[in-house]
Amino acid sequence: MKIIMLGAPGAGKGTQAKMIADQYKIPHVSTGDIFRANIKNGTELGMEAKKYMDQGLLVPDELTVKILLDRVAKEDCKNGYVLDGFPRTIPQAEVLDKALCEIGDQIDYAIDVDVPDENIVKRMGGRRACVGCGATYHIEHIPPKKEGICDTCGMELILRDDDKPETVQNRLSVYHNQTQPLIDFYEKKGILRTVDGTQDMKDVFDAIVKILS
Ligand code: ADP
Ligand code: ADP
Ligand code: ZN
Repeated sequence: MKIIMLGAPGAGKGTQAKMIADQYKIPHVSTGDIFRANIKNGTELGMEAKKYMDQGLLVPDELTVKILLDRVAKEDCKNGYVLDGFPRTIPQAEVLDKALCEIGDQIDYAIDVDVPDENIVKRMGGRRACVGCGATYHIEHIPPKKEGICDTCGMELILRDDDKPETVQNRLSVYHNQTQPLIDFYEKKGILRTVDGTQDMKDVFDAIVKILS
């Protein structure tokens, strides 16, 4: 099964993608996580991506498409994957389409996690990410057992630089201008499904499982 998660930054794509990946035993592929891992390791790709990420801008398509296509070509993606944060532009979607088409394949579902902008700004300020394993929490809605510490690996939880309010506003306008058109794109292909992302995490997941089964 090949799934794309759509939605604004902070809509809960990552949270749901991880649950889907667990349930269906397929890899969770997040371009944001790949970029952050590269930044942490000080790679050239990381340095380049950071310039854009810090401003809340998209990393250029040429860079992003290549890392994504390399990732999904790996053995563990043979039986499917859940893409989180890719595609984010129409050209990215077209390249993915073409690459899949060439191997006689296609995306099964594009799931739009729908959350209004007002809720997003609140959510992002409360998001905390683990510096060790990348797990995501929310100080109010999805708190860790021990404040500031990851349940899974015990490392420190931080507020991402790009989750500060100034940058969140930029990311939201980038979303509306460059990414939202994908909703129409996948609607036309007949594979768009929308879930109400303002519900509890568990209820959002139940809605997704219903779609997938
Ligand atoms: P969120 O989950 O909050 O939407 P991500 O972790 O997906 O954030 O992305 C963080 C940043 O990484 C984005 O703001 C953007 O700069 C960059 N990025 C991630 N995926 C892509 C992509 N597909 N195309 C361009 N830039 C991307
Ligand atoms: P995205 O990957 O779309 O950027 P995340 O999955 O990282 O979004 O979620 C953004 C923030 O909102 C995180 O702090 C996460 O813990 C929290 N969150 C995710 N789903 C829900 C939900 N259904 N209700 C409330 N908070 C949520
Ligand atoms: Zn952790």
